[in-house]
Amino acid sequence: MITNEQLLLLEKYLKESNNIVFFGGAGVSTESGIPDFRSKDGLYNNMGVDFSKYKPEYLLSFACLYHEPDVFFEFYRQKMNTRNYKPNITHNVLAKLEEIGKLSAIVTQNIDGLHQKAGSKNVYEIHGTTSVCHCMNCGREYDGNYIFDCDENIPHCQYCGDEDAIIRPNVVLYGENLPEYTVSKAISAIEKADSLIIGGTSLTVWPANTFLSYFKSNHLIIINNEPLDVPVNERTDLIITDKLGNIFTKIDEMFKE
Ligand code: NAD
Repeated sequence: MITNEQLLLLEKYLKESNNIVFFGGAGVSTESGIPDFRSKDGLYNNMGVDFSKYKPEYLLSFACLYHEPDVFFEFYRQKMNTRNYKPNITHNVLAKLEEIGKLSAIVTQNIDGLHQKAGSKNVYEIHGTTSVCHCMNCGREYDGNYIFDCDENIPHCQYCGDEDAIIRPNVVLYGENLPEYTVSKAISAIEKADSLIIGGTSLTVWPANTFLSYFKSNHLIIINNEPLDVPVNERTDLIITDKLGNIFTKIDEMFKE
């Protein structure tokens, strides 16, 4: 729970900032109903019988896509289909902060597209997105729905006609590099930020968790519903252990006209 003292500090930091960057993870979308990976109710603790013999990281790896595409697509369709979920208060207030000129960018590890659905414009999706997919042979892009709606278990390109021309999601899988251009824009936004809010991430996924070292300015704020297992940056000004939805409801009130 946030204390009154923390709330006043949060308000002070945010009101004196005009170039806030939000760095988020799966915890931003749990209040929309999408499970995160590592918390008690997260996907890694609720794999279901079909996938219990696999390590979660394997099911979302390039190795799985390459060696066992049928397993990869079964898992992807069952667990990564976030098309019918809606943005929550955190996504909505972040979009509002951008609109009023307070927030300059969102750097997200999420692949669900909910920040854009909420109206945020400057979103760097460093782990890619489920909203787009592409042919591994010719590179042709398809709407992300293609994988979820097509009749084939392993989706194939309609244009290549080649049995190896698999359509895959534009998601960064374990074992793959992050998209260079997006990463450089994300790092540059963090370098220029006057406040950095880190929210809803276990900060365990490399290299995303190293991005914070590029932040040089005033206020580093961490909001997570549980204390983090990793050492936090010693420059952190404020650590709030609470649900993002509670805190962003309060942030919304701070900026009501
Ligand atoms: P994680 O599962 O490792 O950590 C999520 C953290 O958020 C946990 O510490 C949890 O306690 C916290 N949390 C959960 N709900 C919260 C809430 N309402 N308020 C505040 N904190 C909350 O997730 P991660 O650090 O983002 O890393 C996992 C990887 O999972 C990322 O690469 C991401 O691509 C992927 N992922 C994405 C989605 C999505 O797109 N929505 C969902 C699951 C996983």
